[in-house]
Amino acid sequence: MQFHHHGYVSGDPRIQPAAGVGLDRPEELPDEVDVLIVGTGPAGMITAAQLSQFPGVTTRIVERRGGRLAIGQADGIQARSVETFQAFGFAERIIAEAYRITEMAFWKPNPADPSKIVRAARAVDDEMGISEFPHLIVNQARVLDYFAEFMANSPTRMKPDYGLEFRSLEVLDGEDGAQSQYPVKVTVAHTVGEHEGQERVVRAKYVVGADGARSKVRQSIGCTLAGDQANHAWGVMDVLAVTDFPDIRTKCAIQAESGSILLIPREGGHLFRMYVDLGEVSPEDHGEIRKTTIEQIIAKANEIMHPYTVEVRNVAWHSVYEVGHRLTDRFDDVLPEQLGARTPRVFITGDACHTHSAKAGQGMNVSMQDGFNLGWKLGHVLEGRSPETLLSTYSKERQVIAKNLIDFDKEWSTLMAKKPEEFEDPSELEDFYVRTAEFPAGFMTQYAPSMLVAEPAHQELAAGFPIGKRFKSAPVVRVCDTNPLQLGHQASADGRWRLYVFADAAPAGEPSSVADFAEWLQTAADSPLAATPAGLDRDAWFDVRVIYQQDHTRVDINAVPAVFKPEVGPFKLTYLEKVYGSDPKADIFDLRGVDRGGAVVVVRPDQYVANILPLTATAELGAFFAAILGARKPQTV
Ligand SMILES: Cc1cc2nc3c(=O)[nH]c(=O)nc-3n(C[C@H](O)[C@H](O)[C@H](O)COP(=O)(O)OP(=O)(O)OC[C@H]3O[C@@H](n4cnc5c(N)ncnc54)[C@H](O)[C@@H]3O)c2cc1C
Repeated sequence: MQFHHHGYVSGDPRIQPAAGVGLDRPEELPDEVDVLIVGTGPAGMITAAQLSQFPGVTTRIVERRGGRLAIGQADGIQARSVETFQAFGFAERIIAEAYRITEMAFWKPNPADPSKIVRAARAVDDEMGISEFPHLIVNQARVLDYFAEFMANSPTRMKPDYGLEFRSLEVLDGEDGAQSQYPVKVTVAHTVGEHEGQERVVRAKYVVGADGARSKVRQSIGCTLAGDQANHAWGVMDVLAVTDFPDIRTKCAIQAESGSILLIPREGGHLFRMYVDLGEVSPEDHGEIRKTTIEQIIAKANEIMHPYTVEVRNVAWHSVYEVGHRLTDRFDDVLPEQLGARTPRVFITGDACHTHSAKAGQGMNVSMQDGFNLGWKLGHVLEGRSPETLLSTYSKERQVIAKNLIDFDKEWSTLMAKKPEEFEDPSELEDFYVRTAEFPAGFMTQYAPSMLVAEPAHQELAAGFPIGKRFKSAPVVRVCDTNPLQLGHQASADGRWRLYVFADAAPAGEPSSVADFAEWLQTAADSPLAATPAGLDRDAWFDVRVIYQQDHTRVDINAVPAVFKPEVGPFKLTYLEKVYGSDPKADIFDLRGVDRGGAVVVVRPDQYVANILPLTATAELGAFFAAILGARKPQTV
């Protein structure tokens, strides 16, 4: 964490100095905003948290509930989400309070007496060591709290506007819209307080609908969720209970003759969640299933758990969660016939565009990645860093991911719903769980080539950083303070692009490709760094880090080129923490297959690898960023 460079900070360094629109933030929702986000679920909160790092952008997030979410909804946090939380600075704290999944147990009817269940198998949760981050269970409400804290501490001092419901919107084209800087006219209404029921109009440049499965924003842009007609229903309960079931603190898939349960132990050592399968619900059900009482859910759970019993002493939350596999064909307001002719003004994220079963624990996770993908793009366009065409990449990138998720989830939930006697191979369920682990952990996302993701022409220079996939961390040792650390964990959700420069074999100070590359980066007119506005720190838009092949004791920090040691803050201090040596015990060059001739790995603000180039390909790197930075003129050379 970098601080003190503007002068001594005596308080919590996580509270960033207020800046831009955060200096005089009005309590009331203003009449005009740059971005209006609807809904404070995981999709909306991460978008807002990311935008809170752009001090010049007025972002407001409205929520119809009168205050924070207290309890309920999703709880499974995949490793990719924890990796994301690391960038938002709260991974360690949430890990400390969460339940950690290390194994899953599979219970089935006892062949000797099928009326009773018996443990049939266990599977290690991340057998292949996909990530250094854990798989967690923690309530959605806590995740939202951490994002709220992050945005409150950000330069923009953001906080949600509770008690405001989205009613409708209109994108004003033509006379009014074309000239208006704020072409989206949004009607909201107060849901609490003295103005309850009163409507008001807010004008926005962009609107993000993160308003859940029954999204009104989605409706207002003419999108519909298409997919299965029938919903699947579960009785979900978060309870405190006394039981003789030995795996009550282990994640379990329980399949009995009388039905199935997904058991999720929860944070804190006592609470657990049970999803009790209530089966398929036809459209003719007309909500009857939602009348299932907690007593009925508990009775059904006891029937399935036989011969064990569950004596519920306290019900923290329960619900009948009813959802189908559904997806919208686009995630923004650009109709197919308008593609290429206009850029989007309204976006939808999270459950507003995709719904699926709860069984693979994906809802909150995928929704957050939607928001992480969109947030920085809006920030870059609104700050004038990038052209508006950048915004068209959101729907293109995320729609495919949602489709993949729905296909995966259909397979998993079909397997989970099978009766024990229907399996050809008795270990089919646990085999699928282990074999496909990378997908639910969140690491199978790979974006296709676009203005943001290069064709994999030089992939062989760093085979372990697949282009389009998220940057997979590896150990390095920081030269200035000899600290061993994970390279990927040094990246914050600050909206910056990252250039990881892997040096060739020559030590720092000797003529080398990396020295030539550094000189170009620092001084050339077509270097991406040249677009950084005058007056900002040289690393304000691009975070450039160098990794030498030598171990840290053999890197002379004074011989390292200046572009890797930028001057920062009003005192023009030299920032030394971007220079690394390789760790001889776990050499990042070997671990990630980085060519010993060196390479540049370009990583997007949302942590996905955008390009890999040789150190000599300066023109290619310049051209790659010229498209992303649009018509931006170099500010400094
Ligand atoms: C009752 C319930 C139980 C669930 N249980 C599970 C579960 O057990 N496991 C699981 O994996 N997933 C579960 N989910 C789904 C999971 O919570 C979602 O996948 C995840 O929250 C999606 O995040 P999101 O931000 O897209 O939407 P949400 O978290 O649904 O957030 C949408 C937000 O928008 C607000 N909102 C809606 N309409 C408006 C409006 N017109 N104006 C202003 N605000 C509005 C809502 O109040 C809400 O805060 C559940 C969802 C619900 C609603």
